[in-house]
Amino acid sequence: MSLVTNSVRSWFLTELASGMSIIFKHMFHNKATLNYPYEKGAISSRFRGEHALRRYANGEERCIACKLCEAVCPALAITIEAEPRDDGSRRTTRYDIDMLKCIYCGFCQEACPVDAIVEGPNFEFAAETREELYYNKEKLLANGDRWEKEIAENLSREAAYR
Ligand code: SF4
Ligand code: SF4
Repeated sequence: MSLVTNSVRSWFLTELASGMSIIFKHMFHNKATLNYPYEKGAISSRFRGEHALRRYANGEERCIACKLCEAVCPALAITIEAEPRDDGSRRTTRYDIDMLKCIYCGFCQEACPVDAIVEGPNFEFAAETREELYYNKEKLLANGDRWEKEIAENLSREAAYR
């Protein structure tokens, strides 16, 4: 750039004016950022977040211990043990997910014949220790109870595509 052009730019503060024009232009646009965690963006109904085990409306566990989710899991993150109850129904006695191994592929959810294991909308489950991410049945059922409304809405929204 020539000396004259540079001098003219300096005298007339054209770069300053151009910068200010960009600032004023963006002052009246919608903000591109969110004030997380106080504001949160929309999440797809197909979002694959924290796992949960669901119950039926009467409180009974949906899981029938078929172990399809355990078999399909490519990360070998799921461990199930099961035995028959007194009434002859088959239920899990142990359902663990090692969330450190999980790759959030969603295969367990797709394989489940009774929509028992699902990946819910929760993405805020960071932990400070590895042990906190070894989920057991109690934790997974508690997640299901906590997120049932959102999970049921998402599943019904996606029902036509499954
Ligand atoms: S989301 Fe995928 S990797 Fe994670 S537990 Fe389910 S099947 Fe395994
Ligand atoms: S969560 Fe579903 S796929 Fe896994 S053992 Fe239970 S019923 Fe079978």
